[in-house]
Amino acid sequence: MPEHLYPVRPHPSRPHRTLQDAANDGMLLDIRCNRCHRQVAYLALDLLKVCGPSHPLHVPPFGCGKCGSTEFVRLRTRIPSPEEYGRLAIRRPVKQVWKWRVGVLGE
Ligand SMILES: [Zn+2]
Repeated sequence: MPEHLYPVRPHPSRPHRTLQDAANDGMLLDIRCNRCHRQVAYLALDLLKVCGPSHPLHVPPFGCGKCGSTEFVRLRTRIPSPEEYGRLAIRRPVKQVWKWRVGVLGE
């Protein structure tokens, strides 16, 4: 979803929840692409390392991994049920890969 559709400022009595809040609560993030219908679950704790603790929870952290769309990606947070432990497939980070390019000094 384009970022301009999200509220820019939170209501004074209800600040935006962040990834850090979700990680503290042990939440899962279900990220679904409504264009290609790919749905992936992430642990909020894992996304802390990728997006940072202050990332707002209502904004999807990245686009769809299958079709590349950011416009149709929706995010839902939830606490995993006890039955899901040991059964639910989630995406976990394996290693960080750095990509390098040649740039100009002062760029
Ligand atoms: Zn997609």
